[in-house]
Amino acid sequence: MQRNLLSKHFFDRAKKVIPGGVNSPVRACKSVGADPIFVESGSGCWVWDVDGNSYMDFVCSWGPLILGHCHPEVVAAVKKAAETGSSFGIPTWSEVKLAEMIVDMVPSIEKVRLVNSGTEATMSAVRLARGFTNRKKIVKFNGCYHGHADSFLVKAGSGVATLGIPGSPGVPEEIVQNTIAIPFNDKDAVKNVLDKEGDQVACIIVEPVPANMGVVLPDEDFLPFLRQITQERGIVLIFDEVITGFRLAPGGAQEYFDIMPDLTCLGKIIGGGLPVGAYGGKAEIMDQIAPDGPVYQAGTLSGNPLAMAAGIKTLEILSRPGIYELLENRMDYLAGELKTISQKYGIKCTIQKIASMMTCFFGQDGPIRNFEQASQSDTEFYGKYFRQMLRNGVYLAPSQFEAAFVSLAHNWDDLDFAIEATESSFKVLA
Ligand SMILES: *Cc1c(COP(=O)(O)O)cnc(C)c1O
Repeated sequence: MQRNLLSKHFFDRAKKVIPGGVNSPVRACKSVGADPIFVESGSGCWVWDVDGNSYMDFVCSWGPLILGHCHPEVVAAVKKAAETGSSFGIPTWSEVKLAEMIVDMVPSIEKVRLVNSGTEATMSAVRLARGFTNRKKIVKFNGCYHGHADSFLVKAGSGVATLGIPGSPGVPEEIVQNTIAIPFNDKDAVKNVLDKEGDQVACIIVEPVPANMGVVLPDEDFLPFLRQITQERGIVLIFDEVITGFRLAPGGAQEYFDIMPDLTCLGKIIGGGLPVGAYGGKAEIMDQIAPDGPVYQAGTLSGNPLAMAAGIKTLEILSRPGIYELLENRMDYLAGELKTISQKYGIKCTIQKIASMMTCFFGQDGPIRNFEQASQSDTEFYGKYFRQMLRNGVYLAPSQFEAAFVSLAHNWDDLDFAIEATESSFKVLA
């Protein structure tokens, strides 16, 4: 029997001083009908809560921890950095090193600016695209999440989808009037919008593989189509690779699909568990940023030495041979077993995966191509599944509209533990 007295205690205290008791909404576990656990520590693919329960972790800090918790080499690098100064606001060599690694690994990036979060990266990339084109409007896709900047809070994914809200109060209509949201994988919708107001569109921003409405794959011709139509019309194509960057391949989705965007947003994995974001792309566009150009963007803690140390070490480890094959093999195994078990117990679901990320959409029996379809999933069943898996020692994302991540620390025996937990959960829920 699980004990959760201390988690409850901290949640009660948290609710008094932090809105909703959490610093990011989905963590509150509302949509899965649970109270959050409070974590004490993590190691490898495991986390321990303040009551001493252990859970196998498939959230991995929402993607960054592709090496698992407390990878010894990353820990050593951060410790070493902390001992030589945590922040200067004066250039350091470690910023140069991480930037060089990003330019090396991500095919379309010639120059890169480091920031502190994915939200900062997307917000700045859009400002840059607007400054570069001298146009106002942006096109995004329903269910894609690009952080919480005002312009993006239109039919967004992630927590916005989880809470089932269309946008957010506090975002002026004048701002979102410049954001056009259309269905993912819908070439006609893109064409119609651009035929009507293409000369006012600064950029199309897209998660090349959306993972914030659950994992949804692009149709084979969709990304090539976006590349071509934006090129024809002088529109900046932005790939938001905050999740897919260093997840699908060392060079992200652009390497995986061999499609080169004009600008790329990064985050999550490049920080190795510390707060880092980045945006980069063609030198011609990036040179528009201050101090070389007129588009302003700055940050007191940008290029923070501790975060750089974690990022550099993480990318270095990911550059070693065989890592991505191993990760993908493990995910294939997990997803394959999940499919077999779901059929055995008659649980209706569609499993979608790529590389080391996956979503199991419950109540579905065909491929999910967009947010409109994803939102038909059985979220009530997902809630029951989440709670049952928690009882069985597995921590999944507390929302149907998120991905499960396999890290390098999830070895074969660990996966068997998760598969057994799934089987006993389905047995109860069937
Ligand atoms: C997480 C995420 C963001 C926002 O990053 P934060 O670091 O949470 O601000 C942006 N885009 C995508 C695709 C993401 O998954």
